[in-house]
Amino acid sequence: MNEIEKKIEELRKTLRYHSDRYYNDDAPEIEDYEYDMMMRELKSLEEQYPQYDSIDSPTKKVGGRADNTFESVPHTVRMESLQDAFSEDELYDFEKRVRDTVNNPEYVVEPKIDGLSVSLEYRDGLFVRGSTRGDGDVGEDVSANLRVIRNIPLKLNENIPYIEVRGEVYMPKKSFERVVDRQLLNDEKPFKNPRNAAAGSLRQKDSVVTASRGLDIFVFNIQQIEGKELTSHKQSLDYLKHLGFNTIDSYKKVTNIKDAIEEIKRIGENRGNLEYDIDGAVIKVDSFSQRDVLGSTAKYPKWAVAFKYPPEEKQTKLVDIEIAVGRTGVLTPTAILESVHLAGTTVSRATLHNQDFINEKGIGIGDIVTVRKAGDIIPEVLCVNEHNASEIFKYPEICPSCHEKVIREDGEAAIRCINPECPAQLLRNLIHFCSRDAMDIEGLGPAIIENFVDNGIIKNTIDIYCLDYDKILSLEGFKETSVNNIKASVEKSKQNDLSKLIFALGIRHIGAKAGKLLSDHFKDIDSIVNASKEEILEIDGFGEIMAESVVSYFSSNSARELVDALKKYGVNTKSTNVVEDERFKGMTFVLTGTLPTLKRAEASKIIESFGGKTSSSVSKKTTYVLAGEDAGSKLDKANSLGIKVIDENEFMGMIK
Ligand code: NAD
Repeated sequence: MNEIEKKIEELRKTLRYHSDRYYNDDAPEIEDYEYDMMMRELKSLEEQYPQYDSIDSPTKKVGGRADNTFESVPHTVRMESLQDAFSEDELYDFEKRVRDTVNNPEYVVEPKIDGLSVSLEYRDGLFVRGSTRGDGDVGEDVSANLRVIRNIPLKLNENIPYIEVRGEVYMPKKSFERVVDRQLLNDEKPFKNPRNAAAGSLRQKDSVVTASRGLDIFVFNIQQIEGKELTSHKQSLDYLKHLGFNTIDSYKKVTNIKDAIEEIKRIGENRGNLEYDIDGAVIKVDSFSQRDVLGSTAKYPKWAVAFKYPPEEKQTKLVDIEIAVGRTGVLTPTAILESVHLAGTTVSRATLHNQDFINEKGIGIGDIVTVRKAGDIIPEVLCVNEHNASEIFKYPEICPSCHEKVIREDGEAAIRCINPECPAQLLRNLIHFCSRDAMDIEGLGPAIIENFVDNGIIKNTIDIYCLDYDKILSLEGFKETSVNNIKASVEKSKQNDLSKLIFALGIRHIGAKAGKLLSDHFKDIDSIVNASKEEILEIDGFGEIMAESVVSYFSSNSARELVDALKKYGVNTKSTNVVEDERFKGMTFVLTGTLPTLKRAEASKIIESFGGKTSSSVSKKTTYVLAGEDAGSKLDKANSLGIKVIDENEFMGMIK
């Protein structure tokens, strides 16, 4: 393979990889612009060296592939992609190609919505099926999810025999903010941008989830129609609107390319004010008969071109750095800039990611920096052009929200505040505190907690135990019975085992199981609060990171004050798992195979009730291996280490 062939193969491989991340995982790793530039390089190499061209190349493919989550839908009319242009010259080239084939073309210019393409089919005016674009020839049947999108009519204003339309499903910026907010609150990985959020939300197995995501649609094309003659794009857009579809009202018809370019500029300058993301503007030949003459390539129609606004970069002064605390406690730095106009919006803030990023770029307050914004992403600081600051910016050592000390754990880029009472993290912590595996306060679900926080009824964790029930009764939607439910579940939670409370505190790295281990080992909360790292490390199953996390959590004044207040309000802070007969104290059992009568969970419970422990792996510390039928490698290991192996009979004898 020569160098050119190698380069071509390498580009194809990289493009396939990113296409998979983008279309099939809804999680792109690079910017669209970067992807588009790579695609161009490949295209130009394939044109220059046609001997290495291949029908399997990404330059010939449309979109992703349909997987088997949904039924396949073959598209009678291919759902094509669009050729792209990044400069005015390329738009003039497009126009020349058009003019070489047809006379006096007229154009329609519309914004290019950044979402995902779908087809909607109607018979006798009723919605019958909707599908994704897939690879252009075969898509996925997502009818159930499309039905729940507000602006998709299920019945048209006219009973035409058959129509298939094409549109772009998108997530409005407002919905996107709300969805990401929820994801962060639930510790889920947030969507990167509204396009990926729309794609991820449409390809859900449960349409209730889709419905909750606030998707919308713009319909921009008629793929097939029976019982109606249409001759131009403008006419079809007007007809689609008449049928009840949401169309792009801001389209403009022009008679020459110069006016089309003017309109593209106008759309670009205004794009920051739109309620949805666009990634360009499309010029389309208006006349259908001219479109027929122009035809298509394997990938796109020759009668349309998408102008993509390239990412813009400008220099400006960085006047300050603001540190915010997110709901997960992570401190994030934002550059405050002297305002510049970029990619259709006024930019005065840019992300700085974290301390490592700031160090790497050597950023300080007062520096002149280059800021970049590509249509849909938050602006970022690319580099420093002029170092004016005397030193590189350093994070504060205390949380800007609660003024407690912040920490950075080994191997992590994030610096975080771990104060449970930090106001910035309150909502998230409260939801966790009341959740089922934690304090299990059924009456205080996430929506009610949010309501109480918004209305100032809960300002910190302890407020849960001294709720102002009269004030709650005065809120809209709360009646005597619902308030009594809340009261009862709050009261009930006071009796919980200490293990639930420990988990509820939301100590980093301490899940429900670790909470139980701590509770069983130390028996009461004061012993945990005062335990040293070494004492905690004595617990089987605890490592350095977990032990350090517990010590560091209880070293904060807020945590200690919270514990005192919980006690004051009568919350149980002792282990209810009191062992009276400690015949298995200090012993560790490993269970393996199927026991004749006992289930594993039952056996574990019995062992714990006699003060013993169970472990999932055999080591020198194991006292007994309780083995049943089909015991595998654990039994072999026990034999090789000389650990005593017992069967259920012997075990029953031991607990008599
Ligand atoms: P495209 O998005 O550039 O253009 C075609 C699409 O535009 C159509 O599917 C159509 O639904 C949509 N569209 C929106 N508004 C429209 C309108 N008014 N009229 C007509 N069509 C309209 O092409 P593509 O093939 O879908 O995807 C390529 C895009 O995906 C590029 O922008 C590329 O950067 C991006 N991508 C990015 C990555 C990544 O890793 N970042 C990977 C793969 C693809």
